[in-house]
Amino acid sequence: MLLVALVAGVALGPAPASGGRGGRITTGFERRGGLSWTTAAEERDLLRELIAAAPSPDRVGWEPARVTVTRVGGSARGRDVELITVSGARTVPEPIRVLFVCGQHGDEPAGREACLKLVRDLADDRSAAGRRLLERVTVLVLPTPNPDGLAAGTRATAEGVDLNRDHLAVASPEARAVRRVLRETRPHIVHDLHEFDVPTDASVAPTLYLWPRNLNVDPELRGLAVELARDRIGSALRAAGWASDVYGADPTGRLGGDGDERLLRNAAALDHAVAVLVEVDANPTSALERDDAALLHRRRVGAHLVAARATLRMAAERGEAVTSAIRASRARAEHGPERVYLDGADNLPATWAAPLEPPCAYRLTPAQYATARATLAEHGIRVSPDLRVRTAQPAGVRATLLLDPRARFAIADGTPEPCGEEEA
Ligand SMILES: [Zn+2]
Repeated sequence: MLLVALVAGVALGPAPASGGRGGRITTGFERRGGLSWTTAAEERDLLRELIAAAPSPDRVGWEPARVTVTRVGGSARGRDVELITVSGARTVPEPIRVLFVCGQHGDEPAGREACLKLVRDLADDRSAAGRRLLERVTVLVLPTPNPDGLAAGTRATAEGVDLNRDHLAVASPEARAVRRVLRETRPHIVHDLHEFDVPTDASVAPTLYLWPRNLNVDPELRGLAVELARDRIGSALRAAGWASDVYGADPTGRLGGDGDERLLRNAAALDHAVAVLVEVDANPTSALERDDAALLHRRRVGAHLVAARATLRMAAERGEAVTSAIRASRARAEHGPERVYLDGADNLPATWAAPLEPPCAYRLTPAQYATARATLAEHGIRVSPDLRVRTAQPAGVRATLLLDPRARFAIADGTPEPCGEEEA
């Protein structure tokens, strides 16, 4: 199975001469007290050190976590997109897989920084609790899904694509790398890290969270995502001293947070994962932070770490509920959807968007098929030799959202074929 190939990973080669087992392995950000972010070269060195630091049990019998790094794709400018996997020396038969997507937007560096610290902390954790966590949870980390954007300090990719609006069409190489990870590792939980930037006059909590609002998401999975976002992440952030609220509840309406199926939060949930988004305020929240960039950076990274830890705790404690909900959601999707919402969100009135009863199939012209082919394949959508896409298939919701002429982000206007007609 491809999952095995990705989780088994590939080492990056020898570790640099510095660091190693002697002292604690640190990120560039930590060595500079938070004044500047870990560079791409430092990220590479850090990962090499972590891989090299875990060869054998030490004298007291502590078995280090396994850290692997796998190239899962490349950016438009040819930079690697890499997946880090941290797993325990011993694991239960099916550990919960938690995927952290740490920086879809290149100008939001704190999520990536928190992810690098998290990986190091997990690999370094010698406590019994740390060992138990990694027995039950395999941690997957995409620290830098938009490496060109990070290098340039831009929200978008080098091709001007907003990666977090490309998880339906998957037109960019960066979105295809994320999709590959979703498809091949099938994470149970997906945690998406962002930073937001609103004028200081707006009264918005410095930490925000949200579950998938898309109406096609399985209600049981949405329930678990609400539990994770609100009861676990929100509570942990508040306990750590930060006000925390639902993302998109902003009275100014300047933040997002809807049911858009192109967003990772919604897309991952349509892939039967428990998905959440965490947003941290990138602006100074105090006079001290205004005068001290390192303090500001450390608060942003610290808040993301608290949220990530809360997700890992839920994974360890609620693994059974999560796996059984995912199993049920997959089983319900097996024969295709009875209805598909082309719009709407779980916080809008039910009458706002009437669901569509999907047709039996969408027929594509050869030209439409040529346009849609790669995207359909990325989502595992089956197409018959006569270029019909049946909706009675596990990815039937996706097929409808991609091919129905009424769908807001359709990539081809397929011709709906009602049930019965095709048999005539
Ligand atoms: Zn963002």
